[in-house]
Amino acid sequence: MYDRALETADTTALRQHQWRRVQALADAVVGANPFWTAKWRAAGLASAADLRGWDDVARLPLTTKRELVEDQAEHALFGTNLTYPLERYVRVHQTSGTTGAPLRWLDTQESWDWWARCWGFVLAGAGVRPGDRAFFPFSFGLFVGFWAGFDGARALGALAIPGGGQDSPSRLATMETLGATVLVCTPSYALHLLQIARERGIDAEKLPVRITVHAGEPGAGIPAVRSRIESGWGARAFDHAGMTEMGAYGYECEAQAGLHVNESEFIAEVVDPATGAAADEGELVLTNLGRLGSPLIRYRTGDRVRRATTPCPCGRTFMRLDGGILGRLDDMLIIRGVNVFPTAIEAVVRRFPVEEFQIEVFRDGELDEVRVHVEVEGGADGARRVQEALRATLGIRLDVAPVAAGTLPRFELKARRVVRR
Ligand SMILES: [Zn+2]
Repeated sequence: MYDRALETADTTALRQHQWRRVQALADAVVGANPFWTAKWRAAGLASAADLRGWDDVARLPLTTKRELVEDQAEHALFGTNLTYPLERYVRVHQTSGTTGAPLRWLDTQESWDWWARCWGFVLAGAGVRPGDRAFFPFSFGLFVGFWAGFDGARALGALAIPGGGQDSPSRLATMETLGATVLVCTPSYALHLLQIARERGIDAEKLPVRITVHAGEPGAGIPAVRSRIESGWGARAFDHAGMTEMGAYGYECEAQAGLHVNESEFIAEVVDPATGAAADEGELVLTNLGRLGSPLIRYRTGDRVRRATTPCPCGRTFMRLDGGILGRLDDMLIIRGVNVFPTAIEAVVRRFPVEEFQIEVFRDGELDEVRVHVEVEGGADGARRVQEALRATLGIRLDVAPVAAGTLPRFELKARRVVRR
């Protein structure tokens, strides 16, 4: 179950807790799980007893997504990161495949219960309580997405309402009929539902939704997106971070001062992406501690983060990522010598009455060039205002092109707003 005591434990107690979990993890995988056994033996670690103390954890080799993809390609269907015989696993999910071939991931009953426990931290952090009615407008397909959130809401004692197999107007009607107090979806889908509500003459602000929880895209951590969701729904919007292959690791608290990492179930490190050395700002590296059947140990997430150095007003002692996920390392654009994350462009674009947008990236010689397509009120005038704000904020002039409302793709799951030509 969700455990508030661990969230406020001091560093020593937390490290001891993590160290015990690491030992249990190493005991389970070395010798049994072919992927980790081979990887660690190659690095000189023959048995779990070779891990002698906390400092040894940071000496374990880093792991990349490419290794996982290659392993699954060579060892169909599920690769070799399996601690137990296949019969022990009860769920399969796969990634959305936004950056290459999809990864398949198996869970045991224990690791699925762990997923729900992790979501307990996410929902409780946002203020969800037993008695809340949480609505999940989600397709409930192969993508793990909000499946675990759904079970997490139930585990927390809230009423979990599935919103699969419905179009957006039916989902709004379900929310209204069943009195949903919590909405869990991607930030762009929360905005899309607002648009549908406006078209149908429904005042979403009058619905009983008091909390929205978002994942799948960085949007909810972007102030302009958050304020549009909050004013439209008359609710507080919370960000959350997770990955199919890793689990639900990051969440916001009432103070909304960046993302906390759930250090009772994960070990979080920030490293220089070039050297792998510890850093204050760099790539987030994670180890999950409760998914023993298919764990990830020192996994390079590809997410750029900055660790906060001051305590959070909420009293939680878990690591805090200042500004949440700052961007994907492989998404970073270099436009006329300036490093720009697509999230920085979105933060400006969303200050305007923009329904949807797309960032088109094309190479001009050795340089990235960008054109931002916007469905904006006011057409060319609206686009020019967006362009001026981008120039004032980022210090570079980007081409901003107005497009007709409803012409850009909409997303229920992970939005693909950066298109490379
Ligand atoms: Zn906090």
